Parts: sequence; C-alpha cells; structure tokens
Amino acid sequence: MNKSFFSRLRVILLDRDGVINQEPGPILNPDQFAMIPRSAEAVARINKKGWKCFVITNQAAIARGDLTKEVFEQITKKMHLELQMVGAHIDGQYFCPHHPDWKNGRRQTNSLPCLCRKPGTGMLEKASSDHGFVPQEAVFIGDTTTDFLAAADWGTSSIGVLTGNGGQDDKTSVFPNYWSDDLWSAVDFLLKNSD
Ligand SMILES: [Mg+2]
Ligand SMILES: [Zn+2]
Repeated sequence: MNKSFFSRLRVILLDRDGVINQEPGPILNPDQFAMIPRSAEAVARINKKGWKCFVITNQAAIARGDLTKEVFEQITKKMHLELQMVGAHIDGQYFCPHHPDWKNGRRQTNSLPCLCRKPGTGMLEKASSDHGFVPQEAVFIGDTTTDFLAAADWGTSSIGVLTGNGGQDDKTSVFPNYWSDDLWSAVDFLLKNSD
C-alpha cells in the first residue's frame, strides 16, 4: 500500500445507491430509501476528519418518467435526516437526471448522451469547479463499474464496495483501485492510509 497515494486526500466522492443506501432496484420513493448499516456513521467519520463529502448519483428514473424531481428531493431529504440522526452530513449532491434513450418518460429514437451521466465525468468536473479541488485530492467510492470508469477517466482513485452491485454489473470492465466490504470499511481504510 502506497501511503502517499492518499496524502493529499480532502474530498470523498460518494455514489449514492448501493453505497449509502440499499439498492434493490431504482429508488422511486422515500419509503424505498433504506440506509446500508453503518453508512451514516461512516459519513460522520468523514465529517469528523474534516474531509468534504459529495454525493455523485445517476438518476435515470427521472428521464424514464418513473421519478419526478420533486420526489427525488423528498428522497434526498430522507437521506439528510438519516445522516443527521448520527450527526453526519454531506456537503453537496450532484445528480444526473438523464438517460441517453429516454426523455420525459418517452423512449427516444436517437440516442442523446449527456456529459454528466456516469461513466461520464461531468458531475465530477462540476463538483471540482464548484468546490475547488483536483482529482488527486479526492477518492471516489462506488459500487458499479461505471463509477470506477468515471473515476479513472477523471484521474481520481476509486474504492469499490461489495454492497449494492458490488462491482458485478458488467457495464464496463474497469476495476477500482481498491476494494472494501462497505462504506464503513472504505472510510476505515482511508483514515489508516492518509496523512
Ligand atoms: Mg450505485
Ligand atoms: Zn446527465
């Protein structure tokens, strides 16, 4: 383990579904939003360390017409409440409401890719320019290969967690730099290997 790899670490980028909350399928209402054990406590440890923490999430259910932005906001509120219960918070959230084949609940005849949907790096770039950090100061924790590819393309390191998809989605063939059991273990690993 190269300790200096995380020597500049000050920003933790988190995928949401399968990392913070369970992902039995797309989360379409607040009742379906259930935290993964110890994920809120893991965010509290990130906060306590003084690292910034941003959520980076694809929400194609909005493009498919299965989820409105209003309901997505209600789900976000529930996430904030779950975090607050253990004194944790996130510093911002970026979401992609698009899907190349869907718009406003209608299937598109011509595929219209956006720049933000992971494995695109648009949300990472936006977070970086909004909050003034570079890829070398961040790490991306995700559960799907599109997370790992987005991180690699943007030049930041990644940790794959075995919760959610556990990297078994087969969408890309990219591996993360490290694997951890869950968000708690990933944060534990980062705390031990930074500074
Ligand atoms: Mg995920
Ligand atoms: Zn998008």
